[in-house]
Amino acid sequence: MFEITPLPAFKDNYIWLLTRGNDAYVVDPGDAAPVFAALEAAKLRLTGILITHHHADHQGGVAALVERYQPLVFAPASESITGCNRPLSGDETLDVLGVEVNVLAVPGHTLGHLAYRAPGVLFCGDTLFGAGCGRLFEGTPEQMTASLEAIAALPDDTLIFCAHEYTAMNLPFALAVEPENEEVQARKAAVTARRAAGLATVPLMLGEEKATNPFLRCDQPAVIAAARQHDPSLASTARGGERRAAVNPKKSQIFGAIRAWRNVF
Ligand code: ZN
Ligand code: FE
Repeated sequence: MFEITPLPAFKDNYIWLLTRGNDAYVVDPGDAAPVFAALEAAKLRLTGILITHHHADHQGGVAALVERYQPLVFAPASESITGCNRPLSGDETLDVLGVEVNVLAVPGHTLGHLAYRAPGVLFCGDTLFGAGCGRLFEGTPEQMTASLEAIAALPDDTLIFCAHEYTAMNLPFALAVEPENEEVQARKAAVTARRAAGLATVPLMLGEEKATNPFLRCDQPAVIAAARQHDPSLASTARGGERRAAVNPKKSQIFGAIRAWRNVF
């Protein structure tokens, strides 16, 4: 397996540096400067780049890195990515530094969004965050629900390398959705202590996300009840005969209501 090192960038991004011997890959280099610094400090050669989606904070550094190193650039075929020479659409299997990596299509945050899975780890870009998930800039609640379900189906001990340090910011909302969830309460205290000590909360542990992340819990009674409170169209009883009640709302409807509430929280 390759080694994985975070390269903090901008205010709260993580660029993931993958190394094996003297060869390196980076995931989502939004900025070239921290990548150049890390490569030069350890005398590494950049042989590849993995891009999850087209936003500037994930691909802004690609042009400068391509000019210096001419790496393979794997990226969503359907999105506009500088220097992409290995277009992907999901379901491909890659060789990354001698490790088998599976490509997953996870539309929602953007339509072409990809995640990259290596043994025990997932690089998910802006799809899943600590106690939260990416905004739906391009996709639908149905698409994001399916993408999150695909991630949730991985083993609970999967380490999730997302692209932003958002966990502390997201936990107050998770607690608003499920005030009685003791695991969310405990996680909020633990994350507050970690951040106060200057420590990262990423990688995430998938099992912990499944226990505390409201966007992975849209089938839970407490989350369904919270969604119904914030979206009258999901109310469990018809009101005054004017609205037909959604007796059994779909998981994607619950997700959509919780995501819409998060946007204004
Ligand atoms: Zn993004
Ligand atoms: Fe981002």
